[in-house]
Amino acid sequence: MVHQSGAGPQVFQSASGQINEGPTPSRIAQQLRLPHGLRISRSYRIASSSSELRQKTLERWVTRLATETKGSWTRSLIKDVPSWYNRKHGQLTFHLTQSLSGNGCFGKYLCKIGKEDSEICHHCGEAVDDAHNTLFVCPSWSSEREDVIRVLGALDQSTMVERMIESRTNWDAVAECSSRVLSHKEEEERYRRGEQSRP
Ligand SMILES: [Zn+2]
Repeated sequence: MVHQSGAGPQVFQSASGQINEGPTPSRIAQQLRLPHGLRISRSYRIASSSSELRQKTLERWVTRLATETKGSWTRSLIKDVPSWYNRKHGQLTFHLTQSLSGNGCFGKYLCKIGKEDSEICHHCGEAVDDAHNTLFVCPSWSSEREDVIRVLGALDQSTMVERMIESRTNWDAVAECSSRVLSHKEEEERYRRGEQSRP
């Protein structure tokens, strides 16, 4: 159970009533080995001081994940790292980075950083909600997925990034889908946490 203490560091209280210092943003940043210049904000979002720096560091981070054992999800998407690195188009938006890194508003990740108690998908009940579930499986996002399929012809894990690198239109379709889906998920997450009331 997580108790927000308002100002000051978050305090996590265990079932036994023992109070432990929770995973502070800096501790999470350390744990995730975020590149220099990126930090986790107090609302547990990845942030940086300037958009140019953010773009550069996100690019470096995702490229590194594509080559590291730790980044197996990213590696499964970005199989041809030179093509990825040398592409002529394609900005890494905040939400697209969440999709490609797996670090974002996904049950599995939220559970890992102590924001949620389970990895479940709150939208379809799937036991583990990760970037794969969100991008390719969860029925709640089928309409957003159909919009991508209309542009790319198909949407699957093994070809998605390859198709994005092929054309700016493809890239933008996936980025737009990520943005729509993850904005919605973030909003729902804020409702669940009581940080935002439903209109
Ligand atoms: Zn789902």
